[in-house]
Amino acid sequence: MIGKLRLTNSLTRKKELFEPINSPNVGMYVCGPTVYSDVHLGNVRTFISFDIINRYLKFLGYKVRYVRNITDVGHLLDTGEDKISEKARLDKLEPMEIVQKYTNDFHDVMKTFNALAPDIEPSAIGHLLEQIEMIETLLDKGFAYQANGSVYFDLNKYNKSHEYGRLSGRKIEDLINQSRVLDSQEDKKNPLDFALWKKAAPNHIMRWKTKWSDGFPGWHLECSVMSTKYLGTQFDIHGGGMDLKFPHHDCEIAQCIGTTNEEPAKYWLHTNMLTVNGQKMSKSLGNSFLPWQLISGDHEMLDRGHSPMSIRFFMLQSHYASTLDFSNDALNGSLKGYTKLANGIRILKEMVYPENEPLNVDTALVAQVNKMCDNCHHAMNDDFNTALTIGHLFNLLKKVNSLYAKQIAFAAIDKVTFDRMKTTLLSFTEDILGIKPETYINGKNLLNILLEDYAEAKATRDYKKVDVLRQRLKEEGITIKDMKDSLGWAYNE
Ligand code: AMP
Ligand code: ZN
Repeated sequence: MIGKLRLTNSLTRKKELFEPINSPNVGMYVCGPTVYSDVHLGNVRTFISFDIINRYLKFLGYKVRYVRNITDVGHLLDTGEDKISEKARLDKLEPMEIVQKYTNDFHDVMKTFNALAPDIEPSAIGHLLEQIEMIETLLDKGFAYQANGSVYFDLNKYNKSHEYGRLSGRKIEDLINQSRVLDSQEDKKNPLDFALWKKAAPNHIMRWKTKWSDGFPGWHLECSVMSTKYLGTQFDIHGGGMDLKFPHHDCEIAQCIGTTNEEPAKYWLHTNMLTVNGQKMSKSLGNSFLPWQLISGDHEMLDRGHSPMSIRFFMLQSHYASTLDFSNDALNGSLKGYTKLANGIRILKEMVYPENEPLNVDTALVAQVNKMCDNCHHAMNDDFNTALTIGHLFNLLKKVNSLYAKQIAFAAIDKVTFDRMKTTLLSFTEDILGIKPETYINGKNLLNILLEDYAEAKATRDYKKVDVLRQRLKEEGITIKDMKDSLGWAYNE
């Protein structure tokens, strides 16, 4: 192993040496999606970031158990209705049909972007009994109370012996002053007390009978239950997007400590937001992009489609804890880098070190290549710095291209160094960054090329070519529309 992995722990706000509780086993829990709508590119960024972390930990030789949940009940809208229930009501479907559809879609998206599947993907509904059990323990320990069929976490009581808000650094007094008066607030002892079990309104579809009421579990509870069930009461890494730090993760910590008196996760990792014009990409703000829109290029902000791997590469060009701003220019800019990388890797794979040729080793070059390889490890060890790693990979690629162009002779580097360079480039690109080779052809981009050709033929009065292009496209189902100042197309009618 080269160097040691350090990561930024959101709990301590410091960069710390990574030391798993039961090395070489590592337990990692990441909050998964609420399956009531299509995942947008922002969600994808977070899950790709944790995919990299999972991949790198495995690369380092750890035995990782990666748990990422599916939220299928309990995540409420501001109106107090469950997100999945509302969608089921609007679409006139069973809630489980909504859950199944968006879970399937989520898996397809993750596969498209070459994210490894988690080792366990538990769902909240599948863990209702365990959630009820945790509520009972919290009631027994005096950290929860019943009110009007619901059960709430008692923050005043908890704060007598613990400190709520430690992860996000918020103070309970400030939060009380800022809090809004929401639905069923009057049942609570403290406006910040959060629901562990919620009594369902008469029209609420998703509900289960308990001694407290006909109701459903609070959103924060599922993650405390499922993380500790599969990873133990103390596990290594807990992750999610920055926007989950408060209240979701602070609530999780309070529930776990209230139940077992143990700090659940040793390291908390938070990914930063994908933004559009500096604003968080989010469905509710109406600025979200769906993965397929980027792939096809069917969006007013985009002038072309991008392959899944070039989108993945775009995401990795910034550190996971920094924001990443999304734009047509940024994507096109990163496409150049991606293409360079993909071409370099293709060349490298075909490159064979010549046998039995006399060596004339350039020791400075050999030292330089070895340093570049070391740097890739150091960059990933530095809090999974994919941006820096890509920079070092490009330095190595320059050497590959020089070998290919015969600007450097193979004789100048020994086989061991060449092999190390090859292994480093391939394993970092494909195994760690998860950039796999792809032969991706975007129909819309190709059509644009043909239309440009057509426009040029028209401008130069090459009418034979104009007719041929028009006819060939027609045979493929496309009718060219000549307009006054522009060119359009339509499917044949
Ligand atoms: P949700 O299904 O809304 O709970 O989101 C799933 C994951 O995506 C959570 O970890 C969120 O923090 C994360 N997320 C949501 N919006 C963005 C964004 N714009 N950029 C990065 N991550 C996001
Ligand atoms: Zn969660």
